Amino acid sequence: MRRPEFPVFDGHNDTLLDLHDPKRGGGRSFLVESDTGHIDLPRAERGGFAGGFFAVFVPPLAVDPSDDAVPTGAPPANPALDPAYARSFTEDVIARLFLLEKEAAGRFKVVRTADELDRCLADGIMAAVLHVEGAEAIHPDLGALEEFYEIGLRSLGIVWSRPNIYGEGVPFMFPGTPDVGAGLTGRGLELVRECNRLGVLVGLSHLNERGFWDVAEHSNAPLVATHAAVHALSRSSRNLMDEQLRAVGETDGVVGVNFHVGFLREDGQANPDTPLEVLIRHIDYMVDLIGIEHVAFGSDFDGAVMPGRLGDVAGLPLLIEELRKAGYDDAALHRLTHENWQRVLRVTWK
Ligand SMILES: [Zn+2]
Repeated sequence: MRRPEFPVFDGHNDTLLDLHDPKRGGGRSFLVESDTGHIDLPRAERGGFAGGFFAVFVPPLAVDPSDDAVPTGAPPANPALDPAYARSFTEDVIARLFLLEKEAAGRFKVVRTADELDRCLADGIMAAVLHVEGAEAIHPDLGALEEFYEIGLRSLGIVWSRPNIYGEGVPFMFPGTPDVGAGLTGRGLELVRECNRLGVLVGLSHLNERGFWDVAEHSNAPLVATHAAVHALSRSSRNLMDEQLRAVGETDGVVGVNFHVGFLREDGQANPDTPLEVLIRHIDYMVDLIGIEHVAFGSDFDGAVMPGRLGDVAGLPLLIEELRKAGYDDAALHRLTHENWQRVLRVTWK
């Protein structure tokens, strides 16, 4: 693809699950334009979507797996996963990612180093970071993390919105707070150390607040929330408090702003009839609080409800246009759309 003026590298999507589970994605192909889902290659190339974190999310057994699109008022507690099921499901989805890379014949690449990422962005090749959302598949014998690293894992969310042996996730609540449950377990702290040693990014989205502060205390890498929004503007339990945002800024980390309307709106409703200004309000708030160099995108495409006008990945130029109208100049737009992610990944991956 031609290199767009502002290539968008993004902190989170659930496209792999959409492609993997025909009940969810309708059996669509990544290579062919579809009218369902949010990301496929043709729409991505049209919208200037240059890549991002491709999440491997293991849905609860026999429950509709809709990740962040869980409606307001849904039962807040998600049960823990069976680790053997988590492991085999994770391996299947990772196999699908590499199959995709093969089928895309050079238009899509799983990146493992900052140089590879930079090259893909320069050459217009879609760059995918392998992210596992919830560490259930990582056996506590931490050699397992290294096995995943060898095949390409470069980012790990310690939890999804449920408990595991490493920590506790935040159940979806509105209004709610991330301050629920205990901090990381001893194994959770070991996992953070091992991620630091290997150069695997530790993703803080979905982690409860005490777990967040444990990572802040023990990790030697910049703090990163791949897909989150501002609690002061929308009181979802999944959003970050000002103190958490400041901590990310102080470590020269980054927050990928989540586009899920249920995390953006004051009323917490997952209503697509939500203007882009509501999303931009979250970006403005973070930029004012912690600086432009610590804010990026973390769309949650294919896992959440987008503002209607944005629609899908092909609508990204509209968002960039609105940001420009809101006062973001070229330098700011370069930071928001990709440079901040490039900087943080270069430091984190070593
Ligand atoms: Zn998520």
